[in-house]
Amino acid sequence: MSTIDLSPTALPTALPALRTPARRPDLGPATALACRECGSRYELGALYACAECFGPLEVAYEFRGVTRESIGAGPANIWRYRGLLPVPEDVAATRNTEPGWTRLVRADNLARELGMRELWIKDDSGNPTHSFKDRVVAVALAAARELGFSVLACPSTGNLANAVAAAAARAGIRSVVLVPADLEQAKIVTTAVYGGTLLAVRGDYDDVNRLASELSGEEDWAFVNVNVRPYYAEGSKTLGYEIAEQLGWRLPEQVVVPVASGSQLTKVDKAFGELSRLGLVEERPVRVFGAQAGGCAPVATAFKEGRDAIRPVRPRTIAKSLAIGNPADGPYALDVCRRTGGAVEDVTDDEIRDAIRLLGRTEGVFAETAGGVTLATLRKLLREGLLDPGATTVLLNTGDGLKTLDAVSPLVGPTAEIDPTLAAFRAAGL
Ligand SMILES: *Cc1c(COP(=O)(O)O)cnc(C)c1O
Ligand SMILES: [Zn+2]
Repeated sequence: MSTIDLSPTALPTALPALRTPARRPDLGPATALACRECGSRYELGALYACAECFGPLEVAYEFRGVTRESIGAGPANIWRYRGLLPVPEDVAATRNTEPGWTRLVRADNLARELGMRELWIKDDSGNPTHSFKDRVVAVALAAARELGFSVLACPSTGNLANAVAAAAARAGIRSVVLVPADLEQAKIVTTAVYGGTLLAVRGDYDDVNRLASELSGEEDWAFVNVNVRPYYAEGSKTLGYEIAEQLGWRLPEQVVVPVASGSQLTKVDKAFGELSRLGLVEERPVRVFGAQAGGCAPVATAFKEGRDAIRPVRPRTIAKSLAIGNPADGPYALDVCRRTGGAVEDVTDDEIRDAIRLLGRTEGVFAETAGGVTLATLRKLLREGLLDPGATTVLLNTGDGLKTLDAVSPLVGPTAEIDPTLAAFRAAGL
């Protein structure tokens, strides 16, 4: 496949049929699915594209009785926000994985080095499979079960594969995971170990994604990021909720978010908006910045060229977890960054490697390449004067460096190799 088409005709011609579960699904405060483009509404089900205009569907809610106290009384994981998610009220009692409530690190050493006043790192490497993807998968699984599915599937750039395989194993259901065959070995091993079906597909992520879209019309499986994507995507809101709650129920002024499909970025913004509307935080403008790798920067390019349309690219970067050349939520991420006064930037692979080492050296946090992308982008935005060094800023580290050792292993190593004698130690001149 040499060209990738973003037009509606690129969608599967037959939209998957709406499943009719035995009973009406209990998805908590979720009331319907609504088209982001034309507003058409649909009953809650395994639907992701509008039958009228092919626009993406999003969960609509009626929130009831959510207070700081009700959230504070919840568990130390994403289910403390269940009153704001499309999941049943009793979700906290199910045998799902329990991601979330990861640490928010005040990064004073890094801030000093960068000349910033107040910088925080939201470190999502602390999730069960060491990336933010555990959040979205947990919500997708909870919704998929309510919708009557018993197989969890996905196309993945790696972290999603880990999260789906592990969550399905814990839930005692089958998983089917499709990945590009050239994925990092570490991410293949850390998926295969959970025992589900793992298919290495000869192609890039966009090829894998297209195959999954076709399969979702044929198989009775919940593809977390395809046919149950509206629920999956809502899981990213918990990042925004946690940032605000961990800052003492306060919104930051700036946030730097990595962009693959663009979903996470739009949902972090949505979470801040919901908290303001519900009176859980004081309203305050939050500038949202998007971060991409130069080798896969369709959203940053559109931002810089002042275009609305995203031109798909063929990814070529060490940041494989962000290597989506045809980002489904790219236009919406672009909108958020423009509307909030943020920006989208991209950085080189060498800048990514430097940033991974900078974060390790200053804060003792080992980020995967995606975290390197966000920190390198923050640095670039500071240089360009687009990011305010005096404003409260949160940087997202969405994954763990142990999964992408190849990115930095040629650049770091022992300070010296010595014989086990004091003389050798002295001779090394340390
Ligand atoms: C998937 C992923 C993202 C971005 O996700 P989107 O919502 O698709 O933009 C960011 N960081 C890591 C480590 C990921 O695996
Ligand atoms: Zn529509």
